[in-house]
Amino acid sequence: MSKGKKKRGKEGLVLKISDKDWQKILNYCKAASPHELMGLAQARITGDSTIEVTDPIILKQKVTGVTCEFDKKDFAQWIGTSENVSDTKVFWHSHVNMEAFFSGTDRETSLRMANIGHGASKWFVSIVANVKGEYEAVVDVFHPFKACIDARIEIKRAPNSELALIREEVNGKVEVELPAPALPTSLLGSMTSSDLFRHSGRNTQREYFADSESDNPFMGMGDHLGES
Ligand SMILES: [Zn+2]
Repeated sequence: MSKGKKKRGKEGLVLKISDKDWQKILNYCKAASPHELMGLAQARITGDSTIEVTDPIILKQKVTGVTCEFDKKDFAQWIGTSENVSDTKVFWHSHVNMEAFFSGTDRETSLRMANIGHGASKWFVSIVANVKGEYEAVVDVFHPFKACIDARIEIKRAPNSELALIREEVNGKVEVELPAPALPTSLLGSMTSSDLFRHSGRNTQREYFADSESDNPFMGMGDHLGES
């Protein structure tokens, strides 16, 4: 977020979007750079102040460095044939490398987009983003009252299934060498128990179990060595 922009607080609305769909929007913006680009997406209310945004798309359009406009014929055809027009409640566009904020023209376009195709829409989401991933988002409410509410995007990261597989492989291939049995007390000399941990490589080995603290095989070892 750049300087001078209003902060997005905890209040306001939350737009939940999958990492995949958010990256898709940013990739559309990057692919069109250095020109602007605009697109649509679907949205559904999923909680008191939460809207889920999915399936970003683009249509044929004419673009410049600072403007973009859908091809009227293609847009009309999309409205006539798409099954998702009534759920298409998101208008997003790129500011390329410029700051992500809504200009007066952007606001006019948003309100126009909110009307076309589903005039009875009670609310509509607008997002402006740049290739750096900065954005501004608002939800316009049309009924039963008119309001424009700031929104923040919450990116839902998919569970890291790759990590689970990797962890399985590591557990299968990496044998943790246990330290030699404790030395007789007489040989310990002035070594402290923390010296012993360092020499046993305990810290390195522990990393493999960073996520399974509960079955830490080293549990209790420190106590035992410290006892003498
Ligand atoms: Zn704009």
